[in-house]
Amino acid sequence: MFRFGGETIGPLSYKEVIWRIKGDRDHKGFVIQRSLYADTPAMCPKCRTELEEYKKILGSYKWKCIDCGFEKINKNNFYFEAGRAGKIARRDAENAWKLFKMQERDNY
Ligand SMILES: [Zn+2]
Repeated sequence: MFRFGGETIGPLSYKEVIWRIKGDRDHKGFVIQRSLYADTPAMCPKCRTELEEYKKILGSYKWKCIDCGFEKINKNNFYFEAGRAGKIARRDAENAWKLFKMQERDNY
C-alpha cells in the first residue's frame, strides 16, 4: 500500500527517527483513523531534515542525515518501516478516540 495526499497530522517517533503521519479529517475536523499513514522519507530526530537511505552490503540499510551527520543502521528500509509506523499511528488514534469517547460519557 502506498499512499499520497492528506494533511500532516503530527510527528511519530518510531525506530529512533521521526515519521510524518498524514491523513484526512472528517467534516467536523476529526482525524479519520483508517486514513492515517506514515510518509517517507523519515526525518532526522535531531534536526528534522529528511533522511537519506543507503543499502548496505549485508542487506541492512543506513539512514543518514545530510545536515547534522546523524546515522542509524536499520534492518528494513523506509518503505517497510513506514508501513509499521502507520499501524502504530492508527492504533494510537484508535486509543485516543476511545479515551475521548469515555471522557465524553463521564461528562453526562
Ligand atoms: Zn540531522
